[in-house]
Amino acid sequence: MPESYLVIGGSGFLGRYIVEALLARGDKNVAVFDVVQRHFDVTFYNGDLANEVEVGNAIRKSAATCIFHTATPSPTAINQNQDIFYKVNVLGTRTIIAAAAAHGVPKLVYTSSAGNVYNMTDLIGVDERLPIPEQQLDAYNKSKAQAEALVLEANGKEGLHTVALRPAGIFGPGDRTALPGIVSVIKNNQTRIQIGNNNNLFDWTYVGNVVKAHLLAADKLLDPPLDTTTVLQNYPPSITLTTGKYTVPTSFSRPPGPIVGELTPELEQAYWAFKEGRQPKTLTRSKFDPLTPEALDIEPTYPLQVAGQTFFITNGEPMYFWDFLRAMWKALGHENPTSRIVIPSSFGLILGTMSEWFSRLLGREPGFTRGRVYYCNTHRWFNIEKARRVLGYEPDVGIEEGIKRTAAWWKEEQVKADNSVH
Ligand code: NAD
Repeated sequence: MPESYLVIGGSGFLGRYIVEALLARGDKNVAVFDVVQRHFDVTFYNGDLANEVEVGNAIRKSAATCIFHTATPSPTAINQNQDIFYKVNVLGTRTIIAAAAAHGVPKLVYTSSAGNVYNMTDLIGVDERLPIPEQQLDAYNKSKAQAEALVLEANGKEGLHTVALRPAGIFGPGDRTALPGIVSVIKNNQTRIQIGNNNNLFDWTYVGNVVKAHLLAADKLLDPPLDTTTVLQNYPPSITLTTGKYTVPTSFSRPPGPIVGELTPELEQAYWAFKEGRQPKTLTRSKFDPLTPEALDIEPTYPLQVAGQTFFITNGEPMYFWDFLRAMWKALGHENPTSRIVIPSSFGLILGTMSEWFSRLLGREPGFTRGRVYYCNTHRWFNIEKARRVLGYEPDVGIEEGIKRTAAWWKEEQVKADNSVH
């Protein structure tokens, strides 16, 4: 029986790419559920996730066997209405799960977010074992983490199998979330300004790679768990960096890998530090920490399967935070200034605090916040070995090529916009 796909949020950036990828590989039964219609090549169900009847009808009428849930209110709405994230992302996801179970849908692939585990401290090559922190950056990220928990909890109940993919910083042609902000810095003549020392690595993911991970997750969602020995013996090669080579620091957030030989006091304290959420004083690491027999032994769930699991999805090419932006500005045709105004992060935090106070006094949402300062000053990159070895995920489009494609698309859009004005 061919699969019937319902892409919730299929009019959006990622959702539309998923629809196109399904059509391109020959899938015939593809439908979209969204609050807006932007394309007319597949069956469209107009509706709001806040409306249970509309969600249920779309799932029933599409006869979906696999749901991709990519919908979210734009994170840029954060300044206007924070409740909307809870209503759409948390309650909306709950509605999807209930309707999917009621209609016997076997597969739900949820687009979660790497932001779920970010609480404004460094994330250095962290893997899926890192627990969700109590606090997230903002209401958007909080709602994503809450929705993910619902999705994972629903796995294996009432015939539904679920998986949560956590992409980091999706970019590519068609992006209307991150790119406008990146471009506005050029327009505001602010490319000279750098907050922090640019020593922190940051993960981005080309949209086509994120789509690939989604299709792999859907295709393998009902597969039986993988055999430990096979996975552990099959080491994929390192990802080729298209952006130059650099030494990456080691994470404080990962427990030790296989303990070979003597259990030294150093290793023991590192293990307990991780278990108790402290930072170990000294570190011993191996490259494939999360998928070693020793690591698997202490996992609460068996991670070598798709159902019920989370997967970080990135390009595997973390870049220094400001380097990515400069590369994008350059590709857009901007000449980056050679002299820079570097605002130390400590001073940035003071400015952020003042901006938040004044805005509160004036009853406005602050444009500049401490959260933003942390965001551009902390490491935020992820270990994707689980996705590579369990899903078979490999990023196809490198960062450099991704930036080229994105900038070319943006320039074309500008030409179109200019022509429509004249
Ligand atoms: P997008 O804004 O382009 O698309 C979201 C779609 O959801 C839109 O078409 C919108 O109309 C629809 N939608 C919003 N509210 C709805 C509602 N109440 N009912 C029905 N549809 C609704 O977003 P995107 O960038 O394509 O993001 C896709 C997914 O990836 C989201 O879940 C997002 O949280 C996640 N994600 C995005 C990024 C990123 O950098 N863009 C990073 C990590 C995770």
